Amino acid sequence: NAKRSGGNQYRLYSDDMMQLVQRNVRMEKHLRRSLERNEWVLHYQPQYDIRSGRLIGAEALIRWQSEELGLVYPGDFVTLAEQIGLINEIGRWVIEEACRQGKQWMDEGWDDFMISVNVSSKQLDEPFFVKNVQSILQSSGLHPSYLCLEITESMVVNKLNAARSMLDELVELGIHIAIDDFGTGYSSLSVLRQLPISIIKIDRAFITDMVRDRDGLSIVKTIVSMGHELNKQIVAEGVETEEQLQHLHRLNCDKAQGYYFHKPLPVADMEALLAQTGELRHRAQK
Ligand code: C2E
Ligand code: MG
Ligand code: MG
Ligand code: MG
Repeated sequence: NAKRSGGNQYRLYSDDMMQLVQRNVRMEKHLRRSLERNEWVLHYQPQYDIRSGRLIGAEALIRWQSEELGLVYPGDFVTLAEQIGLINEIGRWVIEEACRQGKQWMDEGWDDFMISVNVSSKQLDEPFFVKNVQSILQSSGLHPSYLCLEITESMVVNKLNAARSMLDELVELGIHIAIDDFGTGYSSLSVLRQLPISIIKIDRAFITDMVRDRDGLSIVKTIVSMGHELNKQIVAEGVETEEQLQHLHRLNCDKAQGYYFHKPLPVADMEALLAQTGELRHRAQK
């Protein structure tokens, strides 16, 4: 106890630190093996068109199915992967797998179905990033207009010029760029003005606040109308309630995703949803 050890709280603290370091070392070891062990999987969170209610796409979200650690979420390993230089390989796999999957669903009869993929700032630093995306699109056969890459403000804020020329090249390929977690950074407006972004994803925090008070609602309303003025599509993320969805509908927001519809789904569940939705559409057409 602290008193007997001479009130030395530093020791206690440093035991905690040791554990943290050991945990990280263990995790790093497993993460390095995860590639050859095929332990990465993508889950897909459905996205809906708010006006028509139609399923129009999905965001791919990575999970690490570790033999030793169980299912690990990106919040617990993406930063480590960036630190140990693994994120480029992971990120490349994510784009390949998402394009392959998207193409397969397209071939099974889903048209106008957009696959969104999160990218890390480290990937934007790769000299051949655009070339790689281009060759992945070619080998998968996915039409570029069905791929959306999600970036965040913080990824580009200190290198707007470099980011702009790279994003311009990506847009030249025909893909879409979305700004994720919009409104949480320090430079949302200049990013919007200077980068070729076609989709704004309003951060979940604003969707939560929207139903709290008038100010919360005004902020979302302002983002939607400003976005539309600038010719962007607006996606609300983290929609959890019917009430939120109704507000978004009234504000003329374009698309939504969130637990209200579905959590991110394993491929089998996503395919069941696609099949069921396809049947519903089919019946509606008869
Ligand atoms: P994000 O891109 O903003 O993704 C949204 C996160 O919110 C996801 O967490 C999703 O599961 C969660 N979410 C969705 N709807 C709701 C809702 O209604 N309520 C609540 N409470 N949460 C909701 P997830 O999958 O743990 O991903 C966290 C973050 O990790 C992502 O945030 C993204 O920044 C990053 N990430 C995910 N996949 C990848 C990837 O393949 N590569 C990279 N570089 N980052 C990724
Ligand atoms: Mg995202
Ligand atoms: Mg987000
Ligand atoms: Mg986020």
